[in-house]
Amino acid sequence: MKKIDIKTLVRENIKNLKPYRSARDDFDSGILLDANENSFGAPFADDLELNRYPMPYQDDLREKIAAFRGVNTENVFVGVGSDEAIDLLFRIFCTPGKDRVIINPPTYGMYKVSAAINDVAVDEVLLTENFQLQPEKILTAVRPETKMIFLCSPNNPTANSLNIDDIMQVMNNFSGIVVIDEAYIDFSSQASLTGNLTDYNNLVVLQTMSKSFGLAGIRLGVALADAEIISYMLKVKAPYNVNKLTAQKASQAFSSIDNVKKNIDAILEERERVLGKLVTFPQVKRVYPTDANFVMFRIENALEVYKNLADEGVIIRYRGNEPHCEDCLRLTVGTTVENDRFFEALKNIEH
Ligand SMILES: *Cc1c(COP(=O)(O)O)cnc(C)c1O
Repeated sequence: MKKIDIKTLVRENIKNLKPYRSARDDFDSGILLDANENSFGAPFADDLELNRYPMPYQDDLREKIAAFRGVNTENVFVGVGSDEAIDLLFRIFCTPGKDRVIINPPTYGMYKVSAAINDVAVDEVLLTENFQLQPEKILTAVRPETKMIFLCSPNNPTANSLNIDDIMQVMNNFSGIVVIDEAYIDFSSQASLTGNLTDYNNLVVLQTMSKSFGLAGIRLGVALADAEIISYMLKVKAPYNVNKLTAQKASQAFSSIDNVKKNIDAILEERERVLGKLVTFPQVKRVYPTDANFVMFRIENALEVYKNLADEGVIIRYRGNEPHCEDCLRLTVGTTVENDRFFEALKNIEH
């Protein structure tokens, strides 16, 4: 049980912020002549009333996500991808030019970019060679200005899950915000940290519809946290951040959960086939364990292989510049046909 006084972590200007009051905050039915919308409608057939602004807080969608993830609606924020949630957390908790965050490379690049945009210093504590956390080192790196620690599990680009004991050690000994990025949690054999939200009010779990739900194109990211943190996120976000088209498709996905699960199962099955096949290539030196919908492997002359694959029309990701990732490539698990094209191209490079 950890009760942090969240207010003491929030920037002064955010605490005092009077949020923009949109027309839809006051009324959402009647003869709506309050928002300078176009009452004559969209220029094409439209059953979503696209001439009207969307609901500012997306209560229906948040309720569906809450039910699916086993939390309350007040614990759910929806934004334009997880990237919006990451940026909002910086803006709420980190004073530019003063506060700091800790990240654990090799990891998702957006934390660093978002920190740089917000002029927030980043302290890096590398993962081990097996891509696990170094909790003691992380806790030693904490300074008075350290407001957030970002953990990514399963981690991108390495694909493994972080040990839960290490995550808990960080959570139990840090009094700032702990952000756990669970973009790939639905592919993982490990449980989501959402079960810990009631015990840790400084925990923020990031999820997304971009990966397991197959909806990267609609840009719908989710943050799950204590109601107080969520209320700050709702206060700071742009009034109409999630648009009606996105909200409709996101909602539709929760009526098609069987298909979401079917696709996850198919990806996991295909992942095992890819792993089995990768290790048969003599130039592949190491295939790392994966708990996500992608695989990282080490291969001789990785950069050259990457370029040759691209010449063959198969695009994967070179990650050899990341710490502990020398000669590493990251491969997304595709359809059987796509994966076979990859293996065919890889075989051609061999000769
Ligand atoms: C893909 C990914 C995301 C998703 O970001 P969106 O903005 O929601 O598309 C978040 N975190 C990690 C680690 C990812 O790999």
